[in-house]
Parts: sequence; C-alpha cells; structure tokens
Amino acid sequence: MMKPTVMIVEDEASLVTMLRYNLEKEGFRVTEAGDGEEALTIADETPPDAVLLDWMLPRMSGIEVCRQLRRKSETRNVPIIMLTARNEETDKVRGLNVGADDYMTKPFSMPELMARVRALLRRAKPSQTKGVLNFSDIVMDLDSHRVSRAGKNIHLGPTEFRLLQFFMERPGTVFSREELLNSVWGPDIYVEPRTVDVHIRRLRKALNENGGADIIRTVRAAGYSIDTSEPPDSGELTDEDQVAAE
Ligand code: CA
Repeated sequence: MMKPTVMIVEDEASLVTMLRYNLEKEGFRVTEAGDGEEALTIADETPPDAVLLDWMLPRMSGIEVCRQLRRKSETRNVPIIMLTARNEETDKVRGLNVGADDYMTKPFSMPELMARVRALLRRAKPSQTKGVLNFSDIVMDLDSHRVSRAGKNIHLGPTEFRLLQFFMERPGTVFSREELLNSVWGPDIYVEPRTVDVHIRRLRKALNENGGADIIRTVRAAGYSIDTSEPPDSGELTDEDQVAAE
C-alpha cells in the first residue's frame, strides 16, 4: 500500500522534529517546509495527501499558503490542519474560511493530532487508506493485498502492486517515468528511469498472463497510463518495441 504523504509547514525546528517522528511512526511519508514559499514548491514537487500548516510563518502567513494551495488543482482538496499559537475565535473562523479543514491550538496533544490526520485522510481518500479499486476487469483489494483479473488471482511483486495501485487510482492519466519514480518509489530514492520500464514489463506480463486486453498504454516520449480506449495510431509503441528501438 502506498504511504500517504503528510507535509509539515512549520518554522519551529523542535516541533517539526516531533511531528515528523510521530507521523513516521504512524506510517506516513513526511515532507517538510520551513516557510510558505518552500511549502508551495514542495507541494508542487510532491503533492501531499494532508498538510499540517503553521499559522505564523516567516515571509508568507499560513493563511496565504492555505489560499494558494486551494488555488492549485493538485492540492485543491487536500486536507489542511492549521496549527496556531493563537487562541482567538476570530482566528479560528478566519482559518476555516480560507479553506482549512481543521485547526489545533499549540500546545496540542500529539495523539489527538494524529487521530485528526487519520480521520481527515479517511474522509478525503478512502481508497488510499483501505478498500477496493476496480478498473476494467481488474480488482485490487488493498486490505488483503490481492489482485485479480476476470476472477483469477494475479501475483504481483511489491513494486508492481504499488505501480498498479497508483495507475488504478488515476485511470487515463499519462505519467512520465520521473513522475512514477517520484510517486511510487519516493522522491528520496534514486533509481534509473529505465527501472520503471522493467517493472512496467513485469506488471504487464502478470496482468496479461490469463489473456485479456493490454490495459497499459506506453506513450512514446511521455510515459505510461492505464486505459481501455483504443490507442491512436501514431506515437505509440509497446515498451518492448521501445526498448528494442533504443
Ligand atoms: Ca511559527
């Protein structure tokens, strides 16, 4: 199962350390930013599944960061919890008006914050915490980690499983090798872009083992997607063709 990413936007180093420790213990992937501009850059690079956003930040306030995150399509619906040292009701109202989903006053209880993060993630993306994904005749059970096609079990390695889950949550969208590396392998892990091709080949082979249409599209110079529509005539090759051609 792909770990949800939580972005911490906070300028207080000791609090960042504590938040990171607790979030990682909960099984989340963590990105962090010390100010608002950095937060927007990091959110572009690795769109988070939830954001912990400090109110008082250097240069750009947490409110402004919240507004800007809400303007971008990738983060329009991301759950945001505002962290604030202030306690006035007006601040709370203002925070919720700019589009924060929740709000906690410092100092807060870490278990309570973790519970709220989990609750927001469950509401925002039920398919990422647990559940079943369907695409064409393929069924992915994320709880039992089982994959079947037309009722027959398919065995996938852990990377192929994460790749298929990533595609099945975003059918029809083409992803470059770099985007797949960043999202499926993680931004901190260095592997050759060619590694993606190897795992796509394995995934395709496993999915097609018992027949059925090839749902993985290889789009030359662009990347990969899953799709059931007829591919256009030009600009497409199977990845085997592509490797042979290179
Ligand atoms: Ca602060």
